[in-house]
Amino acid sequence: MSTTPPVTPPTPRRKPKPEITRIGDRQLKPATLMMGFGYDPTLSEGALKPPIFLTSTFAFPSAEEGKRFFEGITGQRPGGSEGLVYSRFNGPNQEILEDRLAVWDGAEDALVFSSGMSAIATLLLACCGQGDVIVHSGPLYAATEGFIARTLSRFGIGYVDFPAGAAPAEISAALEKGKALAAQQGGKLALVYLESPANPTNALVDVEAVAAARDAIAPEAPIAIDNTFLGPLWQRPLDHGADVVVYSLTKYAGGHSDLVAGGLSGARRWMDPIRMLRNTMGTICDPNTSWMLLRSLETLELRMTRAGENAAKVCAFLAGHPKVEGLGYLGMIADPRQQDIYARHCSGAGSTFSLFITGSEAESFRFLDTLKIAKLAVSLGGTETLASHPASMTHLSVPPERKAALGITDNLVRISVGIEDPDDLIADFAQALDAA
Ligand SMILES: *Cc1c(COP(=O)(O)O)cnc(C)c1O
Repeated sequence: MSTTPPVTPPTPRRKPKPEITRIGDRQLKPATLMMGFGYDPTLSEGALKPPIFLTSTFAFPSAEEGKRFFEGITGQRPGGSEGLVYSRFNGPNQEILEDRLAVWDGAEDALVFSSGMSAIATLLLACCGQGDVIVHSGPLYAATEGFIARTLSRFGIGYVDFPAGAAPAEISAALEKGKALAAQQGGKLALVYLESPANPTNALVDVEAVAAARDAIAPEAPIAIDNTFLGPLWQRPLDHGADVVVYSLTKYAGGHSDLVAGGLSGARRWMDPIRMLRNTMGTICDPNTSWMLLRSLETLELRMTRAGENAAKVCAFLAGHPKVEGLGYLGMIADPRQQDIYARHCSGAGSTFSLFITGSEAESFRFLDTLKIAKLAVSLGGTETLASHPASMTHLSVPPERKAALGITDNLVRISVGIEDPDDLIADFAQALDAA
């Protein structure tokens, strides 16, 4: 006769340990918090690194709690769900990543997405309805510009743009124009959308001037800014009056050219409606990519600092070279207004810049084809140095007049400097310039 083993009582559900974010009155820096913030190993068998949670759904502790969690998901209870429900809404890896991304931006909340473009599309759809108007700086990342001009326009959403380097009066005029257009269409000025620095020219937007104009003309409209080129290390737009920070995490944040993801951060007031739409559409980042991004954020400051130092050394060499006609590098700005914007908004010049080769497309192509260390590829912000030719690649479909207005010439090569040895990079650029 077999005996049933005694039933052991269940261990009580463990509570997460309180977050350590200060020592005495010292607030810990993001570089320190990236190693532990938002994750309690005791909840995952002591695993030092968070496991990757491959599950589509989550078991509720009780029916009552399941109901409460759903009240958070559906927005009947503000601030998101108190517990995990279903992986289209959220998961442990994504939540830890969101907590850590918010730390970098000094934001109340953050959301992660399957790509930079799915973050941008979800943001725009959450903010705008029929008849509304977006006022945006130009140029924008080509897919963002296309989504506004060609997709949102099909739903009666209009736009007004102004050039990235615009002076305060020009910014105010664009907002007034946007407000008037919205009134005419029976909508509102729903969003001010910026990208700074702009790609590929590195023109900077005066975010502080945009915020002042918004406060005066359209106080209800949030300001979102694509901070992919300098963030989160060298520019913190929330400190300058922006409301939502936008990232392609594919670039510097991911940093190894091995994933595609996006992020938004800002106050809960702005994140809540965007989270609701992400819940509906399923544009959330997957657990594996989120885990890789947690790995990447641990070395973000190290990688970006080294890449920035390398770019400064490479540009110092390029600036004096007879085959170089000019440089669009934020560490060497000639225009006094751009220099003033830089001084007020940025803490570093980044590692992505444009290089104007003496000559045209033929010389640029010879230069690109002769590079030995730098790879010929679009994208930026990875550990490896990349070079591309915007006029014939990323901006090929831009009409000639707009290309000319944006300064995208046939002798422009865009470089994203990585973390290699700087003297090796200089040797590579030197031999490729000789061949051009
Ligand atoms: C790459 C990029 C995007 C789009 O991001 P994906 O991750 O490729 O979807 C948006 N904005 C900027 C400035 C970018 O460089």
